[in-house]
Amino acid sequence: MTIFEKIIAGDLPASFIHQDERCVSFMDIHPLNEGHVLVVPRTPAARLTGLDPETAAHLFTVARKILEAIQHTAIRCEGANIFLSDGEIAGQEVPHVHLHIVPRFRGDGVKLTFGKKPPAADREVLDRAAQTIGAHFKRRA
Ligand code: 5GP
Repeated sequence: MTIFEKIIAGDLPASFIHQDERCVSFMDIHPLNEGHVLVVPRTPAARLTGLDPETAAHLFTVARKILEAIQHTAIRCEGANIFLSDGEIAGQEVPHVHLHIVPRFRGDGVKLTFGKKPPAADREVLDRAAQTIGAHFKRRA
């Protein structure tokens, strides 16, 4: 059982913002900035593809509403990073899907980095990747 399942079950405390039949949202215990919120599905899937499409989409709908709410508070929010680390290799620490909402403001010192900027890829390589992914995408559309 992950920490988030325990929070959802009420076995661990959390500062909730919102709860509905598909997801809950609460404050991150180690906020990158004031107002750092997590949106977490009730389904205990580790990966985004483990969620049904409606639940996956719902996370973003709720995130948008929370962002709008934050913008109406005194929390500094000149922009925000909204991200999801999908899998341990992508930096996911809690193996239960969650969307981060991190309010940002000039000079906050927060760094979200994917390393140095890579060189531009060859068009041929990009086209090949687009074709392969696109073919599978169409089969699922
Ligand atoms: P990840 O690295 O998996 O994308 O993010 C996990 C997030 O969960 C981290 O930002 C971390 O601070 C937060 N977190 C870990 N344990 C708890 C907890 O017990 N309560 C809350 N509210 N957040 C937690």
